Amino acid sequence: MRTLLIGAIAATGLTDSAGAPLTISPHDFRRIFVTDAIMNGLPPHIAQVICGHKNIDTTMGYKAVYPAETIEAHRAFIARRRATRPSEEYRTPTEEEWDAFLAHFEKRKVSIGTCGRAFSTPCVHEHACVRCALLRPDPAQRDRLEEIRENLIARIAEAKREGWLGEVEGLRVSLAGAEDKLAQIMRSTARASVDLPVPRFREEP
Ligand code: SF4
Repeated sequence: MRTLLIGAIAATGLTDSAGAPLTISPHDFRRIFVTDAIMNGLPPHIAQVICGHKNIDTTMGYKAVYPAETIEAHRAFIARRRATRPSEEYRTPTEEEWDAFLAHFEKRKVSIGTCGRAFSTPCVHEHACVRCALLRPDPAQRDRLEEIRENLIARIAEAKREGWLGEVEGLRVSLAGAEDKLAQIMRSTARASVDLPVPRFREEP
């Protein structure tokens, strides 16, 4: 194959930028080969064996993905999902359902932020919001969170003093949660307060 390719290219008279005859090897066609073979139905693991790759990721790395394929795959995904979901789900919600949906957002407000749990799901963390990863802390409640943190530190000291060691561990988890929420607030306010100066014209030298 290599000899045939070199002969065919030489017959065209094509040269590289230095004027030397072009040399092309079968290896240069690996992307075209893998893409064409898989698009025409060859299973990727067979293409892998033909190419002599140890890892199928190498083979798939050579497979070009065309925009039309992406669109086709997405359409197929939507069709599969629709086929597996009952058609009753695709209907106009009743007034009660719509009101319940809007109320969902009202009911997610808690003293130190907003609960991010999904619509119509119960709280599985016993409303221990300060420890909960689903809580999005409100920067306006920073003082309250600092107060909670100070209170937790004092309660840990008290529990140690009184020998309530069973309580210390739980309080430490809450303290770590409060500190995490405060760090989130610090990060969000740091992002929000980036000072960009007003652009000015550069003075001519
Ligand atoms: S504990 Fe978590 S899930 Fe429960 S109300 Fe608080 S933030 Fe929401």
